[in-house]
Amino acid sequence: MSAYAQVAFDIPVDRVFTYRVDPGTEVRVGVRVEAPFGRRELTGFVTGLADSTDVPEAGVKTIRRVVDAEPLFDEGTISLARWVAGMYFCAFGEALSAMLPTGRREIEAPALPLDDEPPGSTPLELSDEQRKAMERVLSAPDGTRYLFGMTGSGKTEVFLQVAEATLAEGRGVIYLVPEIALTRQVTEAVTRRFGSRCAIIHSRLTPSQKLSEWRRILRGEADVVVGARSAIFAPVRNLGLVVLDEEHEGTYKAGSSPRYHARQVAMRRCTEAKARLLMGSATPSAESFLLMRDGRIERLDLTKRLAGGKLPEIEVVDMKQEGGAISRRLAEAMRAAKDAGGQTVLFLNRRGFSFFFRCGSCGAELTCRHCSVPLTFHKERGRVVCHYCGYSAPPPSACPECGSLDVGWAGFGTERVEEDVARLFPDMTVARLDADSAAKRGALETILDDFRAGRVDVLLGTQMVAKGLNFPGVKLVGVVLADTSLNLPDFRAAERTFSLVTQVAGRAGRFTPDGRVIVQTFRPRSPVVRFAAAHDIEGFYASELAAREELGFPPFARLVRIVFRSKDGARAVEASKAFAEAAAAFAPAGTEVLGPAECPIGMVAGNTRMQVVLRSVDPNGARTAVRDAIARFLVPANVHVEIDPDPVSLM
Ligand code: ADP
Ligand code: ZN
Ligand code: ZN
Repeated sequence: MSAYAQVAFDIPVDRVFTYRVDPGTEVRVGVRVEAPFGRRELTGFVTGLADSTDVPEAGVKTIRRVVDAEPLFDEGTISLARWVAGMYFCAFGEALSAMLPTGRREIEAPALPLDDEPPGSTPLELSDEQRKAMERVLSAPDGTRYLFGMTGSGKTEVFLQVAEATLAEGRGVIYLVPEIALTRQVTEAVTRRFGSRCAIIHSRLTPSQKLSEWRRILRGEADVVVGARSAIFAPVRNLGLVVLDEEHEGTYKAGSSPRYHARQVAMRRCTEAKARLLMGSATPSAESFLLMRDGRIERLDLTKRLAGGKLPEIEVVDMKQEGGAISRRLAEAMRAAKDAGGQTVLFLNRRGFSFFFRCGSCGAELTCRHCSVPLTFHKERGRVVCHYCGYSAPPPSACPECGSLDVGWAGFGTERVEEDVARLFPDMTVARLDADSAAKRGALETILDDFRAGRVDVLLGTQMVAKGLNFPGVKLVGVVLADTSLNLPDFRAAERTFSLVTQVAGRAGRFTPDGRVIVQTFRPRSPVVRFAAAHDIEGFYASELAAREELGFPPFARLVRIVFRSKDGARAVEASKAFAEAAAAFAPAGTEVLGPAECPIGMVAGNTRMQVVLRSVDPNGARTAVRDAIARFLVPANVHVEIDPDPVSLM
């Protein structure tokens, strides 16, 4: 039995601490222990054992209690944690903690009920294209490949059969989905196909249920793991395959430290384990598209819609010529759909009634008093609300700056569109599906049941209607406003808009051969809208990659973003300046320091936000400069520093 144990804690101090182990206590690598730390008692992870220590006896404290009878981490997972800590600038113990499904809280949308039958438990006979793709994937025990095909092209069936073949080799599988809640269909398909050898990790399990799933995986009782991004850390034995479904989704990137990307971690794990990595999407991330273009990962095309149905025609409507939220063209199409016995889905990525308040006399705008973002008017609640910090207040009837009564709201949200639809079509029933309407227990199920049963003519909603939902009765899909994300000062805005419009459009025409899509926009001539309307996927990526290369943005450069936030604005500014200077001093040739500058959302919840962005073509330049600068940089009191390598957003 070892006399000393090294323990890593979930604190931002990147080192392990040595503790004495009482004779008679059994401590193993990978278990959690409780130990005195300063004046507190903390739970930490045992990462190593030793018979002796260089630490002076007097400074060594004793482990109080061993929490786990069996280790929670195997050697592979512990070494992965070391890599995560180094790659994403966090402490070893923070990485271990984030890897456990119980580690950090993640908020998730309520689960969508199944809309149509999930694929059955028996494999389908593959089409020629599917079979060829599958043969390529199975032609080697490892390798990174990409299933590139529109919604309904049968990617899921290929994922399932590749998983089956990998299991037959005696190797384990991790099947990643962007969000368990929005992908019930795929999750059910996997569990139906593989039964009790599956472990599903989702946020609605209790912590002890999550740990028990984790232990089943560790013991090898479950060798197929389905889950959202953190499932990439599952201690699957003898890993043979990682599936990354909807690879382009932003949810694969963690929103708090360690800000890992499941795709990067998957690449690392698959390389280490000599396992296959199979990604798939209709709209790959620019990163993956470039890798395919350059032949660094193999692209496997699926070009046919297997469930029948052609790609729908997409019609673009210029909203500059229109008054309300529903254009004349869209209104006509909704009427036609109804007359033909069909239904309409309307998509708008914006909750609330209106989001832009302006005074006609002095030009004042209404922004949150804690955040530099406009407040949204929620008519149902009768309040103006901040979507960033939750602040709310009664709506002003006069200008808060000058008292003028000449004030008005512009810009429409889902509540406003709901009202417009009800007014335009008194004979149609409309249901709204967004975070507000789905907040009540069971509301979501009722709305979807009603829509599926045909009791509702128009289903209007946010992301929730854009993904995962397939209703046979839908004849028309309307994108109420394609530009919502296009105007953001973010280099991925075009990519996001393209993917969203393409995904929403994919919802139409799956079941009705005459499905239609109408996209409303204030920027009908913007290349993004034109490429999406023409289903010109290749054209979009060619143009987007050319623009990124021209501007020196990812995937042609690597970024590390450092955000300084503080209630004390001057300190945040000072810290960002001092850091930028330190980074400039350490930056190797070819690494640029951009900023400091105020973040596009310069204040959230009363915190001023400043950012410095490091950019280099060489993947390591920016990272090295950040590491060196941080090591010599004293973080001022009351300033929080967040380091985000390869940020997905610069907001
Ligand atoms: P994707 O994952 O690419 O969006 P899906 O997996 O949803 O595509 O497949 C679309 C539909 O095609 C599903 O209803 C599925 O059952 C069906 N399908 C998939 N492969 C086949 C096949 N080989 N033969 C017949 N139908 C198939
Ligand atoms: Zn005013
Ligand atoms: Zn706010």
